[in-house]
Amino acid sequence: MTKYQHSQKNKLFKTRFHDPFASQRFTGSAICPGCEAFYYSGNWKWRRPEALTQAPRQVTCPACRRIAEHMPAGVVTLSGKFWAVHRDAISNLVYHAEKLEKSEHALERLMSVEEKNGELVVSTTGLHLAGRIAHALRDAFKGEAHYHYNDDTFFLSITWRRDD
Ligand SMILES: [Zn+2]
Repeated sequence: MTKYQHSQKNKLFKTRFHDPFASQRFTGSAICPGCEAFYYSGNWKWRRPEALTQAPRQVTCPACRRIAEHMPAGVVTLSGKFWAVHRDAISNLVYHAEKLEKSEHALERLMSVEEKNGELVVSTTGLHLAGRIAHALRDAFKGEAHYHYNDDTFFLSITWRRDD
């Protein structure tokens, strides 16, 4: 598929309909048995909606499904010498970014933080959290960030590197 076709498609469809996990939209309300997020009016939220009076049915939310299927929406890969020397500060930054993003958006969560081949690989259930982590890294520690977004698979890969 050419780049031109990609951009045409972007004009026709809103991003959220590309997400294979979020496309499972349905009417009515639900609660996720995994994380107890509520689905109401087309959105997943932490707070139980006041208008929700009946017991909601149980539906696993997109974030819990991504975690169960090991299918992150975002991955931030940290390379270079800097992160290993500043592990604690980096770790604090990553978990703080999750705390802020997750409190506002129920489907934005960390999936895993793993060391692989000298790199730190941070996986997230949502694109926004990956972006937020990369922005926070740039703000706090400079370095170089590159973004690769695959529209077909709704996957954002960000590499961040600092050597000194
Ligand atoms: Zn859930």
